[in-house]
Amino acid sequence: MKTRDEALALDAADPLAPLRDQFTIPEGLIYLDGNSLGVMPKATAARVQQVVTQEWGTGLIGSWNSAGWMELAPRIGDKIARLVGAGAGECVAADSTSVNLFKVLSAALSIARADAPQRTRIVSERSNFPTDLYIAEALAAERGLQLVLADTPEALPALLDERCAVLMLTHVNYRTGRMHDMAALSQAAHAAGALALWDLAHSAGAVPVDLRGSGADFAIGCGYKYLNGGPGAPAFVWVAPKHAERFWQPLAGWMGHAAPFEFTEGYRPAPGIRRYLCGTPAVLSLAALECGVDTVLAAEPHGGLPALRAKSLALTRAFTDLVETHCAGFGLTLASPRDDAQRGSQVCFAHPTHGYAMVQALIARGVVGDFRAPDILRFGFTPLYLRHVDVWDAVEHLRQMLQREEWREARFNQRAAVT
Ligand SMILES: *Cc1c(COP(=O)(O)O)cnc(C)c1O
Repeated sequence: MKTRDEALALDAADPLAPLRDQFTIPEGLIYLDGNSLGVMPKATAARVQQVVTQEWGTGLIGSWNSAGWMELAPRIGDKIARLVGAGAGECVAADSTSVNLFKVLSAALSIARADAPQRTRIVSERSNFPTDLYIAEALAAERGLQLVLADTPEALPALLDERCAVLMLTHVNYRTGRMHDMAALSQAAHAAGALALWDLAHSAGAVPVDLRGSGADFAIGCGYKYLNGGPGAPAFVWVAPKHAERFWQPLAGWMGHAAPFEFTEGYRPAPGIRRYLCGTPAVLSLAALECGVDTVLAAEPHGGLPALRAKSLALTRAFTDLVETHCAGFGLTLASPRDDAQRGSQVCFAHPTHGYAMVQALIARGVVGDFRAPDILRFGFTPLYLRHVDVWDAVEHLRQMLQREEWREARFNQRAAVT
């Protein structure tokens, strides 16, 4: 992509271009933060309004049956399953990513250690998302186990030994966008006698994932990033069918019970993945999440995730090339993998001192990325609604902002609570 006209021509020939029309995107905004909070689908407001005014307002408690509220979690789970290489009945939408991680990590540890109590380690990476490591640290402490962290991805295989119970990784790193080879690492974990647990927060809806084909044992993922489910949307949880009934997860609430409305004494887990539910489903949030998931499924007739992936790679490649050529000399260094096979759907640049202010100055120009401490300028590319011309224009704004040193303004140097 060498000119703006070339970008416009690529958009005119893009078979995925009509999918952008599913979203409400503020005029003039270039939104490169769909990896943190996806944009709002047009269908969401009307659907949530319908649930509020009709299903809740008029139907009241009868809507649990008449509006199918109890079916939301498995139905949306089935839809998400189609995006991550899982089968129907293997996935449910519920709770948050953090809570779902607690459930599946508990289950994975119990299963892995049932026959091999000498396995006392959870293996992960120091660069994993903090909530994942906090949950693992707490669970390890509670059970008298250890969390062992690799400093680099290359150091992981050496930690897969007879002491390892569970390999717990995030498929696409939140800070650098580096993507692991899920199949190779799951197989390496199995070869060492351990189980493989994957966090798909930055993968689901953005890159093709083949949970079944890769031999993963457990997975969780986020509803509000590339699935466009809205702020704080419910997350999802998947368990390989061979493990689903081997263990009850410790948040044994009534919605995971085999017969919640019999109100009987004693917990009896529901068959299959439903035992990974805990309490009453968040109906309003699930309704919004379903609209978001549907926007990704709408790509199926246009080539689905492989087509989205091809476009995402074209966008991230073009952004990288343009920043490196048009914005050279301003101290930005690429922090994401150059190799397509190792890159998720985001591109990050590091700046040693002024990354935060640079991101704020860019947001003031209508180009929204975010900053991840200590030094990362992060740009997410959602191929469902971004165009090649957005990439061109974003880099042009970045170049002008850097050249004019707009980031020096005091207002761009005051840290807000959310970066
Ligand atoms: C976004 C993200 C989460 C979010 O967890 P919440 O429970 O929704 O706050 C967890 N893990 C990873 C890897 C993420 O990228």
